[in-house]
Amino acid sequence: MLLPEHDFIKPRSLAEGLAVLRDAPPGVRLLGGGTDVVFNMRCRLMTPDTVLSLRDIPELQGVDVLPDGSLRLGAATRLTDLVADPVLRERYPALVKAFRAVASRHVRNMATLGGNLCLDTRCWFTNQTKEWRDAKGPCLKTGKDVCHAIQGSPICVALNNADSPPALIAVDATVTLASHRGERTLPLRDFYREDGIRHTVLEPDEVLTEVTIPPTRDRLVFLKETARQGMDFSYGTIAIRADGNGARATRLHIVLGSLTTAPRDLSTAGERLVALGLGDDGIDAACATIRDALGPLTNLYSPAAYKRELARTLLRKAIVELREMPA
Ligand SMILES: Cc1cc2nc3c(=O)[nH]c(=O)nc-3n(C[C@H](O)[C@H](O)[C@H](O)COP(=O)(O)OP(=O)(O)OC[C@H]3O[C@@H](n4cnc5c(N)ncnc54)[C@H](O)[C@@H]3O)c2cc1C
Repeated sequence: MLLPEHDFIKPRSLAEGLAVLRDAPPGVRLLGGGTDVVFNMRCRLMTPDTVLSLRDIPELQGVDVLPDGSLRLGAATRLTDLVADPVLRERYPALVKAFRAVASRHVRNMATLGGNLCLDTRCWFTNQTKEWRDAKGPCLKTGKDVCHAIQGSPICVALNNADSPPALIAVDATVTLASHRGERTLPLRDFYREDGIRHTVLEPDEVLTEVTIPPTRDRLVFLKETARQGMDFSYGTIAIRADGNGARATRLHIVLGSLTTAPRDLSTAGERLVALGLGDDGIDAACATIRDALGPLTNLYSPAAYKRELARTLLRKAIVELREMPA
């Protein structure tokens, strides 16, 4: 599968890159490590006039400790470098676990944080070659008002399958988006939309430049369920953050990933756990609320009933791990 013809631009500064986007936003595709973009271009899901590589932009690189103790992660930093970063490893082992959960070492050697956060949504229909898709014709995401994955669905329900967003949302990370018009910073949880086609609030002329993680001493757990450890998209992920120790917590944040078009915040289950504590009764009560907290799920990739059971299992395992963590 050859790549479609395109121009390739590799700016040496953020200002240079934003100027390219100012002049031709709709036909430009940003490239982090390219581990998803190149596949999508080969499958003709993306046919940009211009590919704008972010890899040589120094402003988008590295991990820095800010004066208030927050961490700033450059969006074009490779996942391999985040996994190896000593500050992240010491302060946020569960975050490092989430970065390491992405694909394999080879993929992480190319893949960037920004690319993982902006990873396009996927479904079993779009995740095929153009020749295969042509047999059925376009879908909601590729230009027609029909969904081939879920018959009759009026909206695109393609999954957000990225591993790092739930853990970063759980630690209240913010993202900074830059364009020639200026910068805006927003909580990562507000970056995602429940829409398989326009799945983030990123505008066509914007670049995600950095992620900021506020300081915290809270406990954090991340779990990923997948068919093959070491090289597969997840069936479901969970990140849970709590203060306190043992079964005691006064603040709890639960985020599930890979079940729907956007990471899902399970605050109601969190409230039950805070009220009852992280003992077995609290876990049972929180698991019982999952069906309502998740709302309707599609049968995309796996049956909705399986996803609900998986959410319950992940929640139970994560809480047990959390309460056994040393204070
Ligand atoms: C074999 C294989 C297995 C994989 N397994 C997993 C997995 O287990 N978990 C997982 O999460 N992913 C997986 N992936 C998908 C992908 O490799 C990762 O999500 C990776 O982190 C994407 O990063 P990238 O830099 O290569 O993104 P790219 O392919 O460069 O970009 C992805 C998207 O993000 C946009 N983008 C990139 N950087 C920015 C930025 N700074 N600002 C705005 N938009 C930007 C691009 O335009 C594109 O839409 C897998 C891929 C392969 C090939």
